[in-house]
Amino acid sequence: MATTALSSHNDGDAAAASGSGPGRMLRVFFLPTFARGHLIPQTDLACLMAAARPGELEATMVVSPANAALIAPAVARAAAAGHAVRVLRCPFPDVGLGDGVECLATAPARDAWRVYRAMELVRPSHESLLREHRPDAIVSDVPFWWTTDVAAELGVPRITFHPVGVFPQLAMNNLFKVRPDIIRMSSDAGAVVSVPGLPGKEITIPVSELPSFLVQDDHLSKTWEQIKACQLAGFGVIVNTFVDLEQPYCEEFSRVDARRAYFVGPLAQPSCSTVHRGGDCDADCLSWLSTKPRRSVVYVCFGSWAHFPATQSRELALGLEASKQPFLWVVRSDDSDSCQWAPEGWEQRVAGRGMVVRGWAPQVAVLAHPSVGAFLTHCGWNSVLEAASAGVPVLTWPLVFEQFINERLVTGVAAFGARVWDGGTRGERAGEAETTVPAEAVARAVAWFMEGGPRREGMEARARELAERARAAVGEDGSSWRDVHRLIDDVVQARASGLLQKEA
Ligand code: UDP
Repeated sequence: MATTALSSHNDGDAAAASGSGPGRMLRVFFLPTFARGHLIPQTDLACLMAAARPGELEATMVVSPANAALIAPAVARAAAAGHAVRVLRCPFPDVGLGDGVECLATAPARDAWRVYRAMELVRPSHESLLREHRPDAIVSDVPFWWTTDVAAELGVPRITFHPVGVFPQLAMNNLFKVRPDIIRMSSDAGAVVSVPGLPGKEITIPVSELPSFLVQDDHLSKTWEQIKACQLAGFGVIVNTFVDLEQPYCEEFSRVDARRAYFVGPLAQPSCSTVHRGGDCDADCLSWLSTKPRRSVVYVCFGSWAHFPATQSRELALGLEASKQPFLWVVRSDDSDSCQWAPEGWEQRVAGRGMVVRGWAPQVAVLAHPSVGAFLTHCGWNSVLEAASAGVPVLTWPLVFEQFINERLVTGVAAFGARVWDGGTRGERAGEAETTVPAEAVARAVAWFMEGGPRREGMEARARELAERARAAVGEDGSSWRDVHRLIDDVVQARASGLLQKEA
C-alpha cells in the first residue's frame, strides 16, 4: 500500500541506496513526534549520521507534510553538502485540527490533547510505511513504542531517540516507581518528594512541580510502562546530551535504561547554518545584537509550545522594562496574535534597549552571539543544552512537564544558572493567579544577574567550561563523536551478523 510520498534532494544517491546487495547504503528511517523540540534535534541527528558516513548511510525523515516544511531548510543544506538525507511524507491523522496544524507548536493550547491523540493514531500509517519500505534501522521517538514490534518483525534495530537528557529521564523513571506514594502525598499542598535511586546528591522537588502523569491519570501515565518496556526491548537508546554534562547519570542510564546507550549531543552546533532551524525566522535580531556591548543582553524565550498567559506576559514586559537591561524577547505568534501581551505604550518605552521577535528566533545563533550574556529560559531540554553548549549562564523559569526537573540539573548539579523566582507557587497544575511571577521579581532577578557579582561569575565560568566540554565532545574523537560512529558501526554489524535474530 502506497501511503507515503518520498521526496529527495539527491535522487541519484537515493537510487543507489535503494538497490540491494552487500554494498548498498544503510537506510535509516527517523520518526520524530509532533513537537518542534523533538523534530529539530532528530533532523539534526539524521543529518549528522548521513554526514558521518557519506556514501554509506542514507537518512530518511518520516514526517507529516507541515512538519516536512519546518525541516526543509536543514534537509536542503544537508543535500547541498552531498549528504543523503531524504523526506518521506506520512499523512497527519485527522484529529480535528486546522489545515497545516501538525505539531504542539502550532496547535492552540486547548487543542494540545488532539496532537497527543494524533501521536497514537499515526500508528497504522507508520506500520504500513515501515513494512513497505523495509529500512535497515528505525530511529523513533519515545511515544512511538510500537516501532519496536515492527522492527522485530522486519528483523532490524529500533533505536529510541530521546530529546531530553538522562538526568530528567532517570528522575521520572524512578519517580514513576513511587507514583502511588506521590498521589497520596499530592493532597498536601506543601509536599516535597526526594527522587529515589539517583546517583550523586539528593534531589528534592515539590509534588506540585512534578509532571502531571506522575500525579494523576493522563495519556502518558497509561502508556509510560509500555513505552519503557519497548525502549528496553529495543536495540538501544540515543540521547541528545554529552557525557560531561551528566556524567554519573549517563553511567546509571547505560546500566538500567537501555541495552545500548549512545550520548550524541549537543546536536545543535552554533554555526551560520543554524539560522533557519525548525522554522523560518527573522534574522534581523542578529544584526541588532551586534549593536550591543559584549555579554550585555538577556535573551528571553519559552520554547516552542508551552502556554504563556497574557497576564504573565504583561508582568514580564514590565519586569524587563524595570530591569534597565538590554533584552531580546521571543513572543510566539500565537501569544502575540491572540492577546494583549504587553501593556499599552510599552514597545515605544523600551525601543532601542529591547527587541521583541514575534514568532521564531534563530535561537542557536542568538546564543552563540557575543552580545548575549544570559538566557532566561523555560528549561526545555534543547534550550538547556544549547545554553550550556554556547557557554551562556541561565535564569530558570520552568513552566511544564520535566522542565522543573531540568532546572535542578541547571541550578543544583551543573551549576550554571539560578532561578528567576523563588516565591509563590509553581507548577503546571496551579492556576494562573497563583503562579504569575510579578514584574518586580523579574526586574530584580534580571538586574541582579546582569549586573554581575561573585555568584554570577561562578555560573559564567561554569557555563564556559561546559561549552568547552561540549565542543570537545562533538569534535573528532570526542565522546559524542565516538558514540555516533559506534552507533552506526553497531547497526552495520547487527545487519551483517544477524545479531537481531539472536537478541529477539
Ligand atoms: N527554538 C528556536 N527559536 C525559537 C524558539 C525555539 O530555534 O524562537 C528552538 C530551540 O533552539 C530549541 C527548540 O526550538 O532547539 C525548543 O526546544 P526546547 O526543548 O527548548 O523546548 P520546547 O519547545 O520543546 O518546550
